[in-house]
Order: sequence, then C-alpha cells, then structure tokens
Amino acid sequence: MTEPRRYDAIVVGAGVGGLAVATLLAKEGKKVLVLEQLDRPGGRALSMRGEEICDKGLDWYRKVLASQYTYIASSEPPMEEIIDRRLLDGFTLDVGYHAISANGAGYMLDFEDLIGGLPGVDKHGAMYGNYYRGTLYRDVAGSFIDPQLKKIGKELKIPFLSFYSDAYTLPEEEIDRLEKVSFQQWAEAKGITKSDVIFNHLHSVSTLFSTINDPKDISIGDIFRYFKHAFGPKLNRGVLGWVGGFVGRGTMEWSLAVVRRFREFGGEIRFESPVKEILVEDGRVVGVRAQTTAGEEVFAAPCVVSNIPAQHTFRVIDRRHFPEQWAKKTESLYGYGSYVPYMGLNRLVMPEEEAKMGIKHTCVLPRTEGFDYDVYICWNIQSAVDPSVAPAGKYLYTAYLPLTEKEALNRDLVGKLIKRLPEFMEEIYPGFRESIDWKIDLVCWKLEGVAKSISQAGTQKVPVKSEHVEGLYFAGDTAKGYGVAMDCAIASGVICAGEILGKDFGIR
Ligand SMILES: Cc1cc2nc3c(=O)[nH]c(=O)nc-3n(C[C@H](O)[C@H](O)[C@H](O)COP(=O)(O)OP(=O)(O)OC[C@H]3O[C@@H](n4cnc5c(N)ncnc54)[C@H](O)[C@@H]3O)c2cc1C
Repeated sequence: MTEPRRYDAIVVGAGVGGLAVATLLAKEGKKVLVLEQLDRPGGRALSMRGEEICDKGLDWYRKVLASQYTYIASSEPPMEEIIDRRLLDGFTLDVGYHAISANGAGYMLDFEDLIGGLPGVDKHGAMYGNYYRGTLYRDVAGSFIDPQLKKIGKELKIPFLSFYSDAYTLPEEEIDRLEKVSFQQWAEAKGITKSDVIFNHLHSVSTLFSTINDPKDISIGDIFRYFKHAFGPKLNRGVLGWVGGFVGRGTMEWSLAVVRRFREFGGEIRFESPVKEILVEDGRVVGVRAQTTAGEEVFAAPCVVSNIPAQHTFRVIDRRHFPEQWAKKTESLYGYGSYVPYMGLNRLVMPEEEAKMGIKHTCVLPRTEGFDYDVYICWNIQSAVDPSVAPAGKYLYTAYLPLTEKEALNRDLVGKLIKRLPEFMEEIYPGFRESIDWKIDLVCWKLEGVAKSISQAGTQKVPVKSEHVEGLYFAGDTAKGYGVAMDCAIASGVICAGEILGKDFGIR
C-alpha cells in the first residue's frame, strides 16, 4: 500500500470560510489541501451561467441547488420550458440573492488585505432604502443621513443615530452582554419605539444584517460587534460608502479569485472530491478519507478544518468522539432560510434611481397568514447595479425574503409568498407584472447557517477549535464569527487560521 500524501492542514469544503482559512495558512508557508465535493468553489456563494443551466439541464441545476440547501418551489413558465427556450442565456444566477455587505468593505476587505489584495474582482456598490407607508427612506451610508429621518429624530428627540454610533465606544464585555439582548429591547430602552417610522427603518436594517424577521430575536450585540470591528476601521479609512453591492459577474467570482491566490501561495485544491470521513486516532485527527476523481484516497494531516455547516459535522466524523451533550447542542443550532426568487424582466418600470438600490420592506405578508413573524423583503435589480449578469435589453430581479427553516420547508406558506410577490411589486410599480419574462421561485432553508438570534449569536456559536478532538477546527458561518452571512463566514475563517497558527490577524 502506498503511503498517504501528507499535508500540514486539510480543509473540507471550498466555501468562503474554508477558502479564507486555507489561503491564510498557505500564505504562512503551510502545505494545505482543500477538498470540495462540487466542481467549483463558493459553496452557498456559487454562481451558474444561464447557458450552463440550459446545457446541463434541470436535473443538474436541481442537484447543485440541493447541495446548497435550496430547491425550486415553482417557476413561470415551467422549468422545462425555460430551459428548452433558453430563456436564461446571457444571465448569471447565484444560488439565490447574493449581495455583499458594505460592497465588500467589511471583513471581506480585511481578509483581502491579509492576503495582499485580490486582483480580478469587480465590486458594484448599491445604496439601500426602506419603504414604509408609501415613503422611501434611504439608509445611512458613509456620511449620508436621510433628511426625513433626521427631522423626525430631532422633533421627537429620538437618538436614532445611536444605532450606528454606539458600537464604536462600547467595551467588549458590554458587546458580549448585548449578544443576548434583542434589537427590540435595545430600541425600547433607547426610546426609538416612540416613532414607528424610525423603529421600522432600523428594524429593516437589523433584518438585513441578521436575516431574522422578528425584532425580538435579533441579537443587537452581534450587529454592534460587526459595526465596531468590521466597519469602524473602514470609516476611518474612508472606504465605507455603500450599504451593499454585488460581486461583478456573480458572487462566485470572489471565490474563484481567492482560489487563484491560494494556488499562488502553493495551495492544492481538488474539486469533485467529497470527504467521506475525517479520521481520528486516540482523540486526534490524522487525516481524511475522500472520494476523488482517482477513486477513494486517504490524505494525512495533523490538522483538519471542517467548513461543512456544523450541524452536519457527524456526516463525516463519528459522533462518539464528542460528548453527547455537545453533539446534540450542535445539531440543534438553527439557521434561517429564505425565499430567493429570480425574475428576468424585459423593461424597468421603476425610476432608475430605485432600480439601482436595494429596497426593503418589513411586511410583504403579515404573520396572521401563518408565519412566525411578518415576512420581510429586500430586492434589487441586480443587473442595474452590475449589467454583466443580464443580456442586453433584459434585466435581472433578485430578492430575499427571510423565512425560518421550518417556514422554508412549508409548501403552503411558500406558495402564499410566491403568489403575493408580483402583486406586492405591482402595487408599488404598476406594470411590473407585465415586465416579467420568466420567474424562478427558489427557496433556501439554510441561507444563514446559524441564525444570529439572542440565543445563538457570535461567541455562542461553535468555537473554531474543537475542545474534544485535537487538531480538528471549524470555519464558516456556523462557527464563531460575526456580522452578515458571507462576511461572518470569512471572519470565522480568519479567526480559525489565527488559532491554528497562534497568530493574531486582528479578528477575534
Ligand atoms: C440563497 C442564498 C442567499 C444568500 N444571500 C446572501 C447575501 O445576500 N449576502 C451574504 O453575505 N450572504 C448570503 N448568503 C449566505 C452565504 O452564502 C453563506 O453565509 C456563506 O457563503 C457560507 O459560507 P461557509 O464557508 O460557511 O459555508 P458553505 O458555503 O456552506 O461552504 C461549505 C462547502 O463545503 C462543501 N462540502 C460540504 N460537504 C462536503 C464534503 N463532505 N466534502 C467536501 N466538501 C463538502 C460544500 O459544497 C461547500 O462548498 C446566502 C446564501 C444562500 C444559500
């Protein structure tokens, strides 16, 4: 028998969290192998060209979506017809709505700085706003503050800018405490609930950051930690001008660029190579067994990082290596899902300025329809921000409507939203319905790996270094990390690399 190949570290999964840890380790001179089950990097942040979907067919598309916890709930016309008529040619689709927080100026930029920059990635910034009772209020971005909100705040003496500024002066212990305090509790204590306009506005921003509809469950401490550490230094550098944005040509371009950097540092990555088992002997990891394109192979390493969402850890490692209480707690961590439709439009019926924004609304359907809380929406005309994702003369509409994991798997509730969305858009922008060429109703039941709720956020997540198996680490949005989903996964990758190397990369 041939000896297994030896590495300093093996990373299971090429999601953004796995790639962050792998690239930092490779940059520090470690011999690193990444094993990814799919034929491409990015995980939940992967992209597909419309041509590819039409060429490879519906089964292939369904399979890729399913590998990232997503399914097609319905479409118009039927998917077979969309594919036969090649209606997706010229479009680029991510797994579903995929904006980047602060147009990548959060932890994404910290990581890019740590690896000496990331050439070949375009980012297209967008401003965001919130519709409330027929009025559009713009989000705070850089030094811009919506004058209507400013006026209400001044008249009613509501310190609503506290939401954006308090974090910078809070000591860490206070942020730790606030992790278990909800946005609602914080807003009440600050007197923000005195104005429904201001409360609604800040609620819509908090849901954008946390992916949780219910303000009583959103952890304000997680948001504040993110503001302080991810945004604070960028405000000083003057690079924080956008609320969100999109990676040009689809979100996966970011992961592809990281893979190029990883390879430049000497890293090795194998696609279509699912890991079957993380091997443990006498309480320490010794390597992995994987199904590669060459057949079943064993790779040896004293350090293995799992980028698989922590709830699924026991698919690749025997649970007897962990105390049962830990295993149960980890499996019971809940994420948050989302209805994430795509629509191909033949014209824009909204003003150009609004087409270029991310527009939020805290209630597309009320909780009285059977949901745990009123269902929120954030939508963009992605191609108005980045024209490369739609063919000439057509437009790509994308949206996210957060749902609990249970709601995302409930076909009746999902059906209500599918029916409601075009009506909702038509009410604000007459003619919207007529502008739809095709529509794919995707539903994801794990957009956010671990919901940033008061019982789970930040430091309450799975630690990056296993306390039970030596040499085992976790990276991704289910491991310790803060802020918006992709950013949270990247932050966790940086924290994880720091633990392995005994080095402080500035994110703790
Ligand atoms: C529809 C949708 C919309 C989203 N919208 C946004 C958004 O607008 N903004 C934002 O910031 N975030 C968004 N997110 C969330 C964001 O994509 C995730 O938080 C982030 O990408 C998670 O990265 P990760 O590294 O933690 O894990 P993952 O992306 O889950 O990566 C895990 C990787 O491991 C691989 N893998 C699994 N099992 C194995 C195995 N046995 N062997 C080898 N490989 C394996 C998977 O294929 C995957 O590549 C969205 C997610 C979805 C699904």
